[in-house]
Amino acid sequence: MSPTPEETPAASIATGKPQKYEFFKVVQGYLEEAGKIAEIPEYITTILSQPKNEIIVNFPVKMDDGSIRLFKGYRIQHNNLLGPYKGGIRYHKSVSLDDLKALAAMMTWKCALMNLPLGGGKGGIKFDPNEVSRDELQRITRRFIHALGSNIGPDADVPAPDMGTDARSMAWAMDTYMNTVGHVFKQAVKGVVTGKPVASGGTLGREKATGQGVVHCITEWAEEKSFDLGGSTLIVQGFGNVGSHLAVILSRLGVSTIAVGDHTGYMYNPEGFNPHKLQEYVKKHRSIAGYPSGKSITREEFFRIKADIFAPCAMENQVGADEASALQVRLVAEGANGPCSPEGEKVLLDRGIDILPDVLANSGGVTVSYYEWVQNKRSESWTLEEVDERLERAMKRAYREVVELARQKKSSLRVAAYAVALERIAAVYAERDIFP
Ligand code: NAD
Repeated sequence: MSPTPEETPAASIATGKPQKYEFFKVVQGYLEEAGKIAEIPEYITTILSQPKNEIIVNFPVKMDDGSIRLFKGYRIQHNNLLGPYKGGIRYHKSVSLDDLKALAAMMTWKCALMNLPLGGGKGGIKFDPNEVSRDELQRITRRFIHALGSNIGPDADVPAPDMGTDARSMAWAMDTYMNTVGHVFKQAVKGVVTGKPVASGGTLGREKATGQGVVHCITEWAEEKSFDLGGSTLIVQGFGNVGSHLAVILSRLGVSTIAVGDHTGYMYNPEGFNPHKLQEYVKKHRSIAGYPSGKSITREEFFRIKADIFAPCAMENQVGADEASALQVRLVAEGANGPCSPEGEKVLLDRGIDILPDVLANSGGVTVSYYEWVQNKRSESWTLEEVDERLERAMKRAYREVVELARQKKSSLRVAAYAVALERIAAVYAERDIFP
């Protein structure tokens, strides 16, 4: 039977409708590949192939119209060998248990790669945060955190923002958790979540940290390739926390953002958007829709634009073989987790397009979350310069380690990033052995 028009590759690039994609299996595949090149004992890759805990909670929330809606929330705790589980909370209509398992595993690799004393976790609720009011969003967040109960905590599992959540959601999360532990311990548990507003115990530099970290990788790449970023061009998919900060920071290095896209559509401006103004607009209107500068284009046209850098900063499985064949860029810098499918990655690499893989490129977020957690533990407030300097050193060190291992093993940067992380985790398993 021939495929329906919706299933043809052309339709997929036009609509972004994902073909069947098993994100967790994809991540498991990279784990196996990296385990081989890092020569990790098989029992360790077997342990790491599944999360330790998969928590599912169902909780009712009173909506503004008085009706009661039941929500399903997930928290995946992948591995805590190196420290408490750590990872974001995602609100999106496509959230699924399996995708969260993939994302939680990736957090384990990121924390190990960045040398943080933290493990990997991820959580989320399947709903569209754009379709509920601010008050409903607050009640959903508070009930979710309450339902998770003692499964989370500053020394157990520390959530953070991810797609659909932000500093405000983390303030509600912290406040809810604080009010469940009793008055005496209230102030001691600020570190139950990171990515909080600065006034509520967050750190300077966290909001931009993920975008900033991607930019450190891009500047390292540019130096290595003798590529002049000044006067170069960027296209960005996803203009939320990661995408907007990345575009703003790159603009200071002379990089012009000529096309952007989000869940509402795509826009092109050959003269370059003003990323500050667009960021302000998105904060107010929750999307790029209706932004007065630039021309509306299709998703397919977006992927065919000639530019130097493409930064996917939305979600997984956005660059399949068709998008990868269409892209006319030199570099794909993965702000999002899992934006390139393995087929997409193969096409990109065969075409000589470099990829800065997610586990390395977007690990600035968890790194600065760790700085926030440390400041909370010590009741300290670091300056922005201090945070920025630490992040820059950490990202550049990780970049060099990954590039060096990829060179030695003749592997992709993605598999090398997994392998550096695995080597660290395996060393600890070798010393501690398996209980009992
Ligand atoms: P966000 O909610 O602030 O922004 C998400 C953006 O993606 C929005 O612009 C949204 O419109 C867009 N989007 C959603 N669905 C889309 C679709 N189908 N097509 C095109 N665009 C779509 O989220 P964020 O925090 O910026 O996270 C974006 C990505 O970065 C996610 O993959 C997340 O896991 C990853 N990430 C985030 C952080 C962080 O610190 N926030 C850290 C590491 C990785």
